[in-house]
Amino acid sequence: MRIALGCGFSRLCVAGLRCGSGMCYFVCDPLMPELPEVETVARGLRRTIVGRRILSVRLGKTDFIDDPVALEQHLPGRLIQAVERYGKFMLLRLSPVIGGGAPAANGDAAPAALLVHLGMTGQIAPNPAGQPCEKHTHACFLLDDNRELRYTDARRFGRLAYLSAEPLAEELRAFGADPLEISAEEFVTQTCSRSARIKALLLDQSFLRGVGNIYADESLWRAKIHPARLGKTLKKGQASTLRRVLREILEKAILMRGSSISDFIDAEGRPGEYQRHHRAYGREGEGCYRCGALIRRAIVAGRSSYFCPKCQPAPRGSAVRVMRLPAKRRAE
Ligand SMILES: [Zn+2]
Repeated sequence: MRIALGCGFSRLCVAGLRCGSGMCYFVCDPLMPELPEVETVARGLRRTIVGRRILSVRLGKTDFIDDPVALEQHLPGRLIQAVERYGKFMLLRLSPVIGGGAPAANGDAAPAALLVHLGMTGQIAPNPAGQPCEKHTHACFLLDDNRELRYTDARRFGRLAYLSAEPLAEELRAFGADPLEISAEEFVTQTCSRSARIKALLLDQSFLRGVGNIYADESLWRAKIHPARLGKTLKKGQASTLRRVLREILEKAILMRGSSISDFIDAEGRPGEYQRHHRAYGREGEGCYRCGALIRRAIVAGRSSYFCPKCQPAPRGSAVRVMRLPAKRRAE
């Protein structure tokens, strides 16, 4: 499904801005928190909820929850032992149910996890239990220190799921390596042996987990690689550079608490700042920071892809259609 987020023409438009100019870089481009944004939220939760026990669960709308009854039945009594980021989602690692009497055959005597995917507009943070709930709060987990871990999500494109060991292992099996952990050798071997376009490869969660449109475009700009290049046409040195810059960009973005483009905020309610460092993403018609050529946009792998036509030359014979520049830029 393609969703327009900021164009104002779609009923799903979040920004509600009727730009109509083609400048809107959310057009038909689903925008989800990527690795740095999710890591930022996970770090906030690690500081604030690890070691707390879930006492009860209260749910509102549940159409984004895998099995709402399972959350209500199996979460109370468990300690939140760790908050992990896995690709673009989080796993709250939970202890066995404490003080539940005889070990139950329903899995409550074993550790489990709560999967939290923020979708486009999901936010999760602890609040004082007595504080009124924000609009669109759909899940509240009462903790043992009189706070509630609350999940709010205006669009409900996120996901919550209670997962015991086996379903969790099944869930994680499909994902590739973490871009912050993958070795240079593995990255280069995988990239240079694939016939997919490099942009598609970076977005392919079974190859790398956690990279989305923003950080794919930023790393390709830094590595001077056109998004439509095929993986197997990259030289080993280029692939190695791409891995290095991708990692550097992700690490810097984590330090800056991610990019706030839509309505991303961290677990403490603060927006990220990395959007000020974007060099390609969302800069259609603006000058390249390296060479001054105007950044262009093309649809590659079904996604808007921003690149510098001079620094990132198109592969020969590439049939990728480059979008016309926004009107005000053409007139300059
Ligand atoms: Zn350039």
